[in-house]
Amino acid sequence: MVDTQTQYRKIKTEVDKAVIAVMESSAFINGKPVKDFAANLSAYLGVKHTIPCANGTDALQIAMMALDLQPGDEVITPSFTYVATTEVIALLRLTPVFVEVDPETFCMDPRSFENAITAKTKAVVPVHLYGHAAPMDEIMAIAKKHNLYVIEDNAQAIGSEYTSADGSVKKTGSIGHISATSFYPSKNLGGFGDGGALFTNDDGLAAKMTMIANHGQSRRYYHDVVGCNSRLDTIQAAILDIKLRELDGYIAARRAAADFYDKAFAGEPKLETPHRAAYSQHVFHQYTLKLTQPDNTAATRNALQEYLAAAGIPSMIYYPVPGHRQQMFAQSGVSPVDLPVTDRLTDQVISLPIHTEMDEEQQAFISGKVLEFFAQS
Ligand SMILES: *Cc1c(COP(=O)(O)O)cnc(C)c1O
Repeated sequence: MVDTQTQYRKIKTEVDKAVIAVMESSAFINGKPVKDFAANLSAYLGVKHTIPCANGTDALQIAMMALDLQPGDEVITPSFTYVATTEVIALLRLTPVFVEVDPETFCMDPRSFENAITAKTKAVVPVHLYGHAAPMDEIMAIAKKHNLYVIEDNAQAIGSEYTSADGSVKKTGSIGHISATSFYPSKNLGGFGDGGALFTNDDGLAAKMTMIANHGQSRRYYHDVVGCNSRLDTIQAAILDIKLRELDGYIAARRAAADFYDKAFAGEPKLETPHRAAYSQHVFHQYTLKLTQPDNTAATRNALQEYLAAAGIPSMIYYPVPGHRQQMFAQSGVSPVDLPVTDRLTDQVISLPIHTEMDEEQQAFISGKVLEFFAQS
């Protein structure tokens, strides 16, 4: 699905030098590269504050801890997302409220969001899924009307741009009150291990989140609020700072690979290629096809996956079980909801290999096998 080895080889000299410098300095925790990387990320995203932390899941958790929510407060989130978005809500004894996504963009449906708002709703977590931006104009307007916090889950879309109706362009992750991202190795900006970060333009929230990520201390051994221990290793920051300089190039490579697939699949009526809304610059963390014909059930999709596997081609179903059907939430007392769009998408989607190092020969082989499957079925 990804090729982080070839990617590493291209920046090996720089990365090795940076890692060795950290080892020689022994500043493994909160070393200078952590501050440098945070400053460079703030400039890149156009946000005031970047708070590095241990992983993307922690980032989401710390964001929610900073909002002073009470047990039972409701947080709205799409069901069609990675579990990390939603599990932290339940972990903090808040109530996740699952809503639908748009069947074309796979991102939160603003109407479904607005319909789910109650007196207990305090926050919403839109997800820029697969690298496509959620419709932030609508989401921000609804949130403002109902006085809700917006936490963007930008784990899959770092570097993506969102164009508002007024023509202004912002990076995803710089629009809500807080955003969270992940530097998991396969993410668009991936480290050589775990990592994550929080972003905000709000000075108060930044101070609070910095404190929470550091045992709730304002100064050493004085703990003002309940926090956790969530840090980005200096080694990871040093590596990520080098990779940040490559990010726009990585995005261009992913977009070129997506263009190749799009062209290859254009004539196949049984497939829908990823939608690209005019407001979103898709950064293709995933290239996700949808099987669209009524006779294309999950069984057809699964047969396609097996067909590809037999030819040595990996593929993934992101995600086979949506949030509202996960046992973990049933156990924590979340009310069942009916989300037919999400259920149908769960049966339709299949993600093909996409990364920064793909060549046309690989892509021609992969797309050829996909088309061969439909020609035979
Ligand atoms: C990867 C991911 C996360 C969590 O990131 P980790 O660093 O693995 O904890 C959260 N949300 C989404 C949508 C993700 O893809």
